[in-house]
Amino acid sequence: MGKTTVIIGAGVGGLTTGALLSKQGHIVRILEKLSKLGGRTASMKYRNHILDNGFHIMPFYKKSAIFSVLKEIGIQDRLKLAKVDDIAFHSDSGFHKYPKGMIDLLQLSLIPFKSRIILLKLLLPMAFSSIEKTEEWDDKSLTEITKNLDPDTNAFFEAVCMLAFADTADHISLGEFARTIIRANPFKGGTSEFAYPDDGGYDSISRVLGDYIIENNGTIETNHSVQKIIIENSKVIGIIENDGTFFKSDCVVVSYPAYVALNQLFDENTIDRKFIEKINRLDKKTAVVEVHFALSSKIDSRQVVFPVGDNYTTKGIFFISNITPSVSPDGEHLIIAGTPVEPSVADDSVKIKEIVEKMKDEISSIYPEFNSSLLWERPMAWKLVESVVKEPGMVWKSKMPHEIPGIEGLFFVGDSTISYGIGTDSAAHSSILCTPKIQSFLKS
Ligand SMILES: Cc1cc2nc3c(=O)[nH]c(=O)nc-3n(C[C@H](O)[C@H](O)[C@H](O)COP(=O)(O)OP(=O)(O)OC[C@H]3O[C@@H](n4cnc5c(N)ncnc54)[C@H](O)[C@@H]3O)c2cc1C
Repeated sequence: MGKTTVIIGAGVGGLTTGALLSKQGHIVRILEKLSKLGGRTASMKYRNHILDNGFHIMPFYKKSAIFSVLKEIGIQDRLKLAKVDDIAFHSDSGFHKYPKGMIDLLQLSLIPFKSRIILLKLLLPMAFSSIEKTEEWDDKSLTEITKNLDPDTNAFFEAVCMLAFADTADHISLGEFARTIIRANPFKGGTSEFAYPDDGGYDSISRVLGDYIIENNGTIETNHSVQKIIIENSKVIGIIENDGTFFKSDCVVVSYPAYVALNQLFDENTIDRKFIEKINRLDKKTAVVEVHFALSSKIDSRQVVFPVGDNYTTKGIFFISNITPSVSPDGEHLIIAGTPVEPSVADDSVKIKEIVEKMKDEISSIYPEFNSSLLWERPMAWKLVESVVKEPGMVWKSKMPHEIPGIEGLFFVGDSTISYGIGTDSAAHSSILCTPKIQSFLKS
């Protein structure tokens, strides 16, 4: 039996798993269907700027699951991170500081003092509860605690929706929200800071992980997809590659959305139909419209601004070249503005155009010099932001398990699988949770 572990997909989930296995001396072979590493985080060069695949930021900075993986394998110094902590809200009454901790909440000028006290009373007990306790709230919506609040206090919750890629607070699980508050609590070893690769391009993370895997005798083959996983007598025996070649391996890790993989990679009747149907229910996409803007002048020195208020379509303005100037050529500045949308909007060019025009109007209302300094714009829409939305009942342990009961040698990682956190943090968390299971299988 082949001793190489095959990993399907070179996104954050596949690469963090590959790196953790390599650290333990296992040989991995990663097959990626696209021409570059990074999956949904892949960046590109455009008019001498580095553009991410939509705005990407790492929550919890050096407390993130990604950083834990880098530390675990001893290569954290290879990824220089820029700290993202100069964040503000913008409402009709101007700019307001984003609270980095509970004490800052008392100074949150976005809402009246009375609302700050209400907010503190709600968030403090949450911030000091345990991750185990939050599981009791996984099926509940954030609106469970916000529905009776006054509009001022609610404005805070609506403003932070963008950070969960959710359009409204009722699309956020209270349990997942509470875990975020706990992980942001410095008294519990957390942080509310964010990070971004200092050299520019969120896929720097994948490059660092990829290099480590190759140095440790692993291989990564791009433009190389897997067609089938072959299972005999409930055991994995190998894969069929895109050119029809059979590659022998008794251990295969799937790292792309499980509800796609389960319907693609297996012969009929290999996996229990009921199990597949249960996982298919996770296929509920979150979508965003985001626009990169290049500017000839710096219109703000902040790193992130969240516009607040029902009249704003734009939910986040990210000043990427204020986070790290390495994303832009000298004399130019890169920003990206975004808003969560219904997935159907992502296919509707007329609606996207309307959203972009609205965003431009809104940004110029905050920054009157925006229009005169605009060099170019590049709108994009994504239907698949996170594999599993953070909706009640679809978080943490309700996601795809890392193994299918009764099948040996088959593992699943990535943001659709059991993990908490958002996006890339959750993809890396899934690897931290799944890798010991793979190791114990490989040892046995
Ligand atoms: C616009 C946008 C904004 C986002 N913003 C943030 C953010 O700010 N912060 C954050 O943390 N996250 C963000 N995310 C989410 C984040 O990108 C994803 O959650 C994360 O990258 C998922 O990683 P993954 O490894 O689970 O999956 P993926 O990145 O999807 O990786 C799976 C890989 O498998 C490959 N693959 C698929 N099928 C096959 C096959 N048959 N054979 C071989 N290879 C295959 C794919 O090409 C892909 O490279 C954002 C996503 C988008 C789209």
